Amino acid sequence: MKNSDFAARWDQSLQANYGTPTIALTKGKGLVVQDSEGKKYLDFLGGIATNIVGHAHPAIIKAVSKQISELSHVSNFYMHAGVIELAEKLIELTGAPKARVFFAGSGAEANEAALKLSRRTGRTKIVAAIGAFHGRTMGALSLTGQSDKRKPFLPLLKGVTHIPYGDLNAMRRAVSHKTAMVIIEPIMGEAGVVVPPQGYLKGIRDICDATGALMVLDCVQTGMGRTGQWFGFENEAIIPDVITLAKGLGGGLPLGAMIAIGPCSEYFKAGDHGSTFGGNPVSCAASLAAISVIEKGKLLKAALVHEKRIKKSIGVLAGVAQVRGAGLLIGIELINLDAKKIAKDLQEFGILVNAPTPTTIRIAPALTVSPAQIEKFISVFSSVLKRAITP
Ligand code: PLP
Repeated sequence: MKNSDFAARWDQSLQANYGTPTIALTKGKGLVVQDSEGKKYLDFLGGIATNIVGHAHPAIIKAVSKQISELSHVSNFYMHAGVIELAEKLIELTGAPKARVFFAGSGAEANEAALKLSRRTGRTKIVAAIGAFHGRTMGALSLTGQSDKRKPFLPLLKGVTHIPYGDLNAMRRAVSHKTAMVIIEPIMGEAGVVVPPQGYLKGIRDICDATGALMVLDCVQTGMGRTGQWFGFENEAIIPDVITLAKGLGGGLPLGAMIAIGPCSEYFKAGDHGSTFGGNPVSCAASLAAISVIEKGKLLKAALVHEKRIKKSIGVLAGVAQVRGAGLLIGIELINLDAKKIAKDLQEFGILVNAPTPTTIRIAPALTVSPAQIEKFISVFSSVLKRAITP
């Protein structure tokens, strides 16, 4: 079936919230995906920072197949080994002496859980960043700092103040002893891979310590090794009170998590919260396999090497204002060029990326990307840009 046939059926049967994509993907292996007409692409978007070890990774296939052949789903009335093993592993990765995990099915759900946890402080006020993206369910949307996404669905949760990202003085003014939590992305992904000044997260940690507000880091996009660190805040040597995760966490399967650290790990009592699919055995098996692939392949270090290479080669191209981000979460800021059009051209030449803003191209390939695939991206991107600039 042709891509256009899929599009016609999609139009008739799916709601219009995503618009209509131009291609239907039928299979993938590693970073290479194929559309319904047999055309191959290098997937440099990774399901928007989600396929952390690529498509059809043998370790994921093995772990998922074994798990689903033994036990596919259990309710939260029962334990299973995978959910405990994964919680223990995530706690180990945080380096915190005491933490507890709540598993959910998505990033929005993980942030909803953080929001509810923060009510256990006895406070209701929240501080978040302008431009931030924390999800689209009504609680998460209340945290999201993008007015175009919020406006059609007002009124949202009361008591959320949005302040400029990266501005510690604004944070100091906004946070008080009435603040339940501050929620911040270590790098704002959907806003166009916006990196805060060094010391920003440490400054927020100090403000939260002084006021008793929970410091929640939304690591849904930056997490699971994407930035060359496990969560994306480690360069500031702080430990937040809460970490939320999803996307790469499930190794391509749906999984979210809210890790509560220190005293707030005791806030939820029996009956306070729940999610039917949270901690599903198959998703947990995939997650553990993905973590193991990342550890064994030393993929955090590799991500930093790729970051250097991409920044060095793309940063000098005519038409590029800035290459920002960390590890394999990179935003390429263009000068006088339509990023959506460049993304479309790249797709035509066999590279998948997206344009989170009118002037930014985002790349978030699997951590398993090879040096040769990085070179291929650089070469195709350079020629697409050259073509766009040359009249
Ligand atoms: N938080 C961040 C930082 C995100 O980037 C996203 C999704 O892009 C979310 C939360 C929401 O995640 P989900 O789409 O899984 O609900």
